[in-house]
Amino acid sequence: MYDVIVVGAGPTGSTAAKTLADSHLKVLLVERMKMPRYKSCSGVLIKKSMDLVSRYFGKDVPRSAMCTPTDNRGMIFTDDKGKGYAFEQEGVNIWRSSFDNWLTENAVEAGAEFRDETSAISCEQKSNHIELKLHSDKPYNEQARYVIDCEGVTSVLKRSVLKISPKYITTYQTFNYGKIDLDPHYFYAYLQPELSEYDAWFNVKDDMLVLGVAVKDTSMIAYYYDSFIRYMQDRHALTIDKTVKEEKWLMPHIQAGCNIDYGEGRLLFAGEVAGFLNPMGEGISAGMESGNAAALAIAEHFNAPDSALADYHDRTKMLKTYMERQWHFVTSMAESFKMG
Ligand SMILES: Cc1cc2nc3c(=O)[nH]c(=O)nc-3n(C[C@H](O)[C@H](O)[C@H](O)COP(=O)(O)OP(=O)(O)OC[C@H]3O[C@@H](n4cnc5c(N)ncnc54)[C@H](O)[C@@H]3O)c2cc1C
Repeated sequence: MYDVIVVGAGPTGSTAAKTLADSHLKVLLVERMKMPRYKSCSGVLIKKSMDLVSRYFGKDVPRSAMCTPTDNRGMIFTDDKGKGYAFEQEGVNIWRSSFDNWLTENAVEAGAEFRDETSAISCEQKSNHIELKLHSDKPYNEQARYVIDCEGVTSVLKRSVLKISPKYITTYQTFNYGKIDLDPHYFYAYLQPELSEYDAWFNVKDDMLVLGVAVKDTSMIAYYYDSFIRYMQDRHALTIDKTVKEEKWLMPHIQAGCNIDYGEGRLLFAGEVAGFLNPMGEGISAGMESGNAAALAIAEHFNAPDSALADYHDRTKMLKTYMERQWHFVTSMAESFKMG
């Protein structure tokens, strides 16, 4: 019987596992992919994420996880009327495969047991523990007093327990060699409704120009992506010599109120599973903060699941307020966010 099984070794799961191990609990972290695993991401660690890494892991982000240009100097938003706003902030540019793998290694170093290529399939709440069905070569069961579900955007456990169909945003981005007249140290977000159904973006990673659009209706990807490329050609002299990669992913569709699902009984949701994601798509800090909060709540109220859940709720109040403030900020820049 484990004290806690953490499902998913993203920033949320590794932070939860590290915090639990630091609290001397017997913790198993499972990950369905082989580590280091790929995760579609712009890979910008804002100052808040860097501070949380130092606070929870006692170290700074290693240079081995970074890509060039290593320093990110902030975000430049263009609102729905085409007006630009620069938000200068210290940050770093990382590859998620290396960064996430480093977080997991630190959780293991702190005492967490780790199994990759192991998927959670389903779970059943019993009176004093949870029965979790896992699959690696074959299906098998493990027991734990608690499970923290950190599966990311599409969670099998959450969908099986809450019986809901979450709303998603689809992201599409390409990695290209070419030229553009923008400063590679910034992340650029475009909120004009003619360029995407959510936002469109540009950033640079290891000399590759990354261009992406987010849509609610996947059949519109090509339409918006082509519009965005034309816009960047006209405004910023974009030329693409070679496209080396394209990828699609999902993000939770954050809406007014920034609804959060905290969990049920001995099953706690953290990170994107719960809905912790900042409305413009920055989710690493929200994942780490909620993973840490869920772990501390369990460690503090180990024998009282109701209190653990209530404490988790309390510990993430500031994070939720932060999300709501960000929501008001984006709605002030683009009417389409208000409309959902
Ligand atoms: C295109 C794009 C760009 C983004 N850019 C940024 C950015 O620049 N900065 C930022 O802060 N955020 C960014 N985000 C958001 C950020 O990537 C997420 O919010 C963050 O990764 C959420 O962390 P997580 O740990 O909750 O989930 P994830 O990072 O998705 O980790 C979940 C893990 O769980 C594993 N898993 C899933 N199901 C199971 C299962 N059944 N059993 C076992 N393991 C399972 C997955 O394989 C995965 O490793 C971006 C997102 C997208 C889509």
